[in-house]
Amino acid sequence: MSPSFRTPRNHITPSSSRASSSPTDGIKQVASYLNNLSDLQVMQLAVGRKVGYIPAPEYLKNLVVVCLDAEHFAHPPRMLTELGFATYYLSDVRQVCKDPGPHGEEILKTIYPYHYRMIESAQFINHAFLHGDPEMSRFGETRFVTKDEMSRVLDIIFVNPVDPNDLSRGYCPVLCLGHAIKGDLKMLEDEFDFKWKDYGTIVRTLDTQVFAREKGLSQKQISLKNLCTACGFTAVNSHTALNDAMYTLIAAVQMALTRDHDMNATRPDTDSKPSGKSLNRVIKNLIDPSREVSLGVGIKKYCTACGRYNHRKPACTAPKECAICLKAERFDFMKSHITQLCPMWYRET
Ligand SMILES: [Zn+2]
Ligand SMILES: [Zn+2]
Repeated sequence: MSPSFRTPRNHITPSSSRASSSPTDGIKQVASYLNNLSDLQVMQLAVGRKVGYIPAPEYLKNLVVVCLDAEHFAHPPRMLTELGFATYYLSDVRQVCKDPGPHGEEILKTIYPYHYRMIESAQFINHAFLHGDPEMSRFGETRFVTKDEMSRVLDIIFVNPVDPNDLSRGYCPVLCLGHAIKGDLKMLEDEFDFKWKDYGTIVRTLDTQVFAREKGLSQKQISLKNLCTACGFTAVNSHTALNDAMYTLIAAVQMALTRDHDMNATRPDTDSKPSGKSLNRVIKNLIDPSREVSLGVGIKKYCTACGRYNHRKPACTAPKECAICLKAERFDFMKSHITQLCPMWYRET
């Protein structure tokens, strides 16, 4: 069977700096319409459902959903190490939303996943708490990028022309989603010259932690792992950016598609929707086709152990010895990387 993913179509690389600094009338109309809706209602719109009695503005059809997750090194100076984006177009979802399949499978197939690791900090992996290994990213294609390239990626993700061949038609409104999203946006603002409001395209931010409360799943701040369990799937290899962005978006879609009393009726691998397909199976099926998706920025191969550009760390056979770890008598660990890429460096200097 041929992959169900297509290459991203709306993206362009903005020729100058941040493309649209003042929201157009269409974007303002959408923002003002969404402003009167709850988080849950906004997400219901984003999966193609109708909400409320006031007709949605025509420009809403251009909506892009961007779910993001940022991961940082847990030790000072807590630098950003990776970013994950899971995005889709409402126009694609509207074509499948009448018959979305088990667990909204047809909607989930429209997602474009992107995983970026910062080349300057990719060797810093959290081992103690918040452990997550970016080499275990399940979806899409991982790319290593410089800080400048990452800045370009942000521009491409958040500034989508309605028609790439006619920029006078304006830009797509963006619904920006995340789990505890304020922390992710703050991380981006601190690391880059990124003021999300300056894009002029983001019409609403949605937080699945808030949204889960509205759905009645938790009165407390629910963790992403627990939210996924409540939505009927397992967050495999979490705490790496794209896995978490995908899981957040998948959970949001489940919450928007199900009636309130359905939420607790599904459990990983045990639910029996009409097709008998579990949500874990649906998610697994997204993995291979998602490898086809790329914005083309950055490089595919970089070894965070030896610094070479022709392989990734799991395939590294280069002899390595780290002088910092030798001095600290970490005799086993010192053979796993070169001195210049010592992941313990920030802790000990
Ligand atoms: Zn290597
Ligand atoms: Zn070392």
